[in-house]
Amino acid sequence: MSKVALVTGGTRGIGEAVCIALKNAGYKVVANYGGNDEVAKTFTERTGIPAFKFDVSNFEKTKEAIDQIADDYGPVEVLVNNAGITRDGTMHRMRFEQWDAVIQTNLASCFNTCRAVIDSMRANQFGRIVNIGSVNGQAGQYGQVNYAAAKSGIHGFTKALALEGAGKGITVNAIAPGYVDTDMVRAVPEEVLKKIIATIPVGRLGKPEDIARSVLFLVGDEAGFITGSTLSINGGQHMY
Ligand code: NDP
Repeated sequence: MSKVALVTGGTRGIGEAVCIALKNAGYKVVANYGGNDEVAKTFTERTGIPAFKFDVSNFEKTKEAIDQIADDYGPVEVLVNNAGITRDGTMHRMRFEQWDAVIQTNLASCFNTCRAVIDSMRANQFGRIVNIGSVNGQAGQYGQVNYAAAKSGIHGFTKALALEGAGKGITVNAIAPGYVDTDMVRAVPEEVLKKIIATIPVGRLGKPEDIARSVLFLVGDEAGFITGSTLSINGGQHMY
């Protein structure tokens, strides 16, 4: 029987590539998205993957939606926490709303989704959770105290939950992508992006598929001995 996989923020960018890779590998994939209905509609038409709209930063709505997904497709066995946003600004200019939105959407969301799937994973003695962190959670980034804090929080969250899941057949890992060619990075001013690319040893941005193939590897049945790890996929950017 195909395993049910839920990918948050699955309708574009890295999440879309993850959905497609999982579907091609035989998983029953469900995507989530936050608000962009038009993108979600064309995603579903193109891929045949259903897309559920709910705000992962909202605990109650997330639980309701994941319960609905379990009723419609079966309990979620593979969870990819990929939904994320940026609201950049230096500390002296950052408003509380920018801080809060990024912490809630990028970090609290991992609690919200994991809390909704953990009971069935424990009962079934199987689960695969992959959380998408960031090189900027590892290294920090100018103008991103909110994003760096949320993403670095994901790495601690991953290790702690991995300890809890280890005896129950549940693995929890993180991927820390470097700069990947998606809408999020296209929003960076061209001048800044040029400077960023100059710091990437392989000399290019990552592709969403570069990340997707690692998610596929980490969620496989054979990957049961890999847990609590962070896989850095960044074109060598960490090797200074
Ligand atoms: P995109 O901006 O291309 O896509 C973001 C996705 O997340 C969309 O599907 C969006 O839905 C969804 N989303 C946003 N907010 C919410 C919410 N509150 N509830 C549910 N879904 C939401 O992002 P990327 O593909 O670039 O990034 C994916 C992940 O990878 C993020 O966590 C990001 O931080 C991380 N990352 C990205 C890097 C990059 O260089 N691109 C580098 C390192 C990490 P909708 O379309 O409805 O808005």
